[in-house]
Amino acid sequence: MARSIEADWVSRFADEVIAEAERRAPGKTIVCASGLSPSGPIHLGNLREVMTPHLVADEIRRRGHDCVHIISWDDFDRFRKVPVGIDEAWNEHIGKPLTSVPAPPGSTYPNWAEHFKAAMAAALTELGVEFRGISQTQMYTSGAYREQILLAMRERGRIDAILAQYRTKPKAAKPVTDADEAAALEGSGAAGEDDGSAATGYFPYKPYCSVCDRDLTTVTSYDDDTTALDYTCACGHAETVLLSEHNHGKLVWKVDWPMRWAYEGVVFEPSGVDHTSPGSSFVVGGQIVRDVFKADQPIGPMYAFVGISGMAKMSSSKGGVPTPADALEIMEPPLLRWLYARRRPNQSFKVAFDQEVQRMYDEWDSLVRKVADGTAQPADIAAHQRSVGTAAGLLPATPRPLPYRTLASIVDITTGHDEQTLRILRDLDPDSPVTSLDEVRPRLDRAERWITTQVPAEQRTQVRETPDADLLTSLSETERESLRILLDGLDEHWSLDGLTTLVYGVPKIQAGLTPDAKPTPELKTAQREFFALLYKLLVGRDTGPRLPTLLLAVGADRVHKLLTI
Ligand SMILES: [Zn+2]
Repeated sequence: MARSIEADWVSRFADEVIAEAERRAPGKTIVCASGLSPSGPIHLGNLREVMTPHLVADEIRRRGHDCVHIISWDDFDRFRKVPVGIDEAWNEHIGKPLTSVPAPPGSTYPNWAEHFKAAMAAALTELGVEFRGISQTQMYTSGAYREQILLAMRERGRIDAILAQYRTKPKAAKPVTDADEAAALEGSGAAGEDDGSAATGYFPYKPYCSVCDRDLTTVTSYDDDTTALDYTCACGHAETVLLSEHNHGKLVWKVDWPMRWAYEGVVFEPSGVDHTSPGSSFVVGGQIVRDVFKADQPIGPMYAFVGISGMAKMSSSKGGVPTPADALEIMEPPLLRWLYARRRPNQSFKVAFDQEVQRMYDEWDSLVRKVADGTAQPADIAAHQRSVGTAAGLLPATPRPLPYRTLASIVDITTGHDEQTLRILRDLDPDSPVTSLDEVRPRLDRAERWITTQVPAEQRTQVRETPDADLLTSLSETERESLRILLDGLDEHWSLDGLTTLVYGVPKIQAGLTPDAKPTPELKTAQREFFALLYKLLVGRDTGPRLPTLLLAVGADRVHKLLTI
């Protein structure tokens, strides 16, 4: 088993959860929980809802305790709206349980909820998240919550009174600043949901209509002794059902959530900022779980919003929002885990789909080096360990993790041509050449996916087909000399390190300096001008991938062809 880890936020929550679980029910399996709504593609922002309890549950397991991480799929929630890009015909399903709505066109899944659950579950498996999924459709329609529903209905006066304390207060305005954030907040139990009040009284249970299957129902009366419940529906249907045997309805969100804390014995469940303001479901739920269900509220830290930078519209998978699967297309699971492990839940951060992903990878590689040579700080070591594996073992890793930006530059230029890519990779370090692309996979595939789906065409590198004759003939004698020195040195310096020395060295030679001369402002200017000249001649722009990588990728023959006057 993986050793337990100390010195970070995860380990402090694990201490707290273990102590609380011991106090509540010594020796019992510890329950950490998440809730996800498969109402559409599950936004990458909602991954924090899963990663926070996952990391804590994993640490508890590392310490040898039994711990389960449950994910409640809120698939018995109503279908609220048809997402962008889906046929308007789906409008007729609004108000039905998500599991009663047909899957999006072309899906092989039996219904809407299963379609979106499957994509999320696959991403979680790839991320090493071990969980037990609980379908709320399965729970409600099997009658699993019968006693809890009857109890909530008996105690409806008490629940109504608790809710009333908050109803009178004006709702705190929640500024939602961008579309991403708005989409992320469409998580489980979205704000503004019906809390069970109606002109006919307060009833925390809402049936789905037995004729139209929608929740446009109003409970008109309930008899505690017989459990007879009368409802009418907007479709015109009216019916009396016995709650002691009725399985086609659910508790309203603000009662449903605390009911499940009690039912599952949840000790740890974080929630998003939208759930933790006064009158929010977490606060109200705390009172309801104590007063009605006679159980404790979980330890529930608030987690901050996770943003996205630079997600290209074209690749966001079906529905216009970035999902965990989209992120896993351009980064390996350990890197994505690390973004969540390194920040405390109350710190917000962004997942980068733009150029920033290269810097994120550089930072990760530098951490890996520090861990290897023993110079990393304890909290950084902890975040690293939580990212590369779980209590169950290590996650798959790239055997030879070459810098992401180098791989990205190479596939940018070779446009994914395997043979050419391997040639360049072999040349990077002739003393220890890469002999097969498998050595650099899956990182190579992620970098290639990033280049092809996230980098706009105008930022892609286009190596010139023919020399820029106009520019070449207009060069000064100094510039001509710089190109000659470079070309003469290519053979001898044909490796990543060698070419690095050469391109920085050319201006030094021209200035009469030794190769190890310290850079002066004048030298730096000369180097910048030399590099810009090379970029113009090779790729027709002022900038591009790092020059040594670019030269290797272009190949010696073509470099000679493009730089010879
Ligand atoms: Zn109806």
